[in-house]
Amino acid sequence: VTLEDLGERALIERVRRRVAAAGGAPPVIGIGDDAALVAPVSPRGMLVTVDAALEGIHFRQDFSTPREVGWKAAAGALSDIAAMGGVARHLFLTLGAPPRTRVETIDALLDGLLDLAGRHGVSLAGGDTIASPERILLALTAVGEPAGERAITRAGARPGDALLVTGTLGASLAGLTLLREAPALAIPKFAAALARHRTPEPRLAEGALLATAFHPTAMIDVSDGLATDVGHLAAESAVGFRVDLASLPIDDGARAVAAALGRDPIEFALASGEEYELLFTAPRDEADAIREALARAACAPATIIGEATAERAVRARAPSGRERELHPTGFEHFRG
Ligand SMILES: [Mg+2]
Repeated sequence: VTLEDLGERALIERVRRRVAAAGGAPPVIGIGDDAALVAPVSPRGMLVTVDAALEGIHFRQDFSTPREVGWKAAAGALSDIAAMGGVARHLFLTLGAPPRTRVETIDALLDGLLDLAGRHGVSLAGGDTIASPERILLALTAVGEPAGERAITRAGARPGDALLVTGTLGASLAGLTLLREAPALAIPKFAAALARHRTPEPRLAEGALLATAFHPTAMIDVSDGLATDVGHLAAESAVGFRVDLASLPIDDGARAVAAALGRDPIEFALASGEEYELLFTAPRDEADAIREALARAACAPATIIGEATAERAVRARAPSGRERELHPTGFEHFRG
């Protein structure tokens, strides 16, 4: 059965049934009416973000299953809420698909999306469906609210602040590189890197803990690559950074792929986008307490990878002690 056979009304009914069976706090009025009605969020205001994933640009059906594509699209939107120190509440999905798309594909996309959303208490509260000439599109709007007194922005880092990152780096690009260059090597040994590329985890619990229990001064999620995203923090905060390459928490899977393909794992760690780890600054004297609190809460660990500087350049210090300017190497939209 294809979407053409099913028709839009039946499709929406199908989505509605799936959403009713999924987790997450439901809106007051959800899918099926002209607009959703959601409970008012805190007087601190509402966080709203939009994130789109287009087949051929952001995902390939020969690299990821439809279920993984749905999961990852939701992860991208939820990660932007996490990066503001937010609690996510609802998702809205604009789904574009060619009429010949099989209904099972749409079901699987939704399963992945609803699985991840439900794990974070987030419901799919509405959306739109459109016929797309050739490619599948998932455009997601996420809404939430600041977990703490205020949202954590990219501006606010001060010279002397510690620079930290959650989790590990490099595996998403390592997994993608493996799929592109050496699919025959995509064997169990590299499963962790592939999983990281296909089903990343948004760090919502980590962002909320930071925002409620500590004083992070600036925060962003690693979606374009560490080198690029440090640059975003530097620009918005009007500071520079020194990044200590020897301290980067390079993913074991990224190291394994780098060794197999003869690549530098540090380059994977610097350029890998779609990591969805949180990159943030905090007062130096809070950094150790943050690391302990994240470990106690069974969150992703945080690693100190550098510091903010008054001099407005972003520099990387190599394990040899040599310093060089760190240029954006990650994903930039509208550039070849
Ligand atoms: Mg972001």
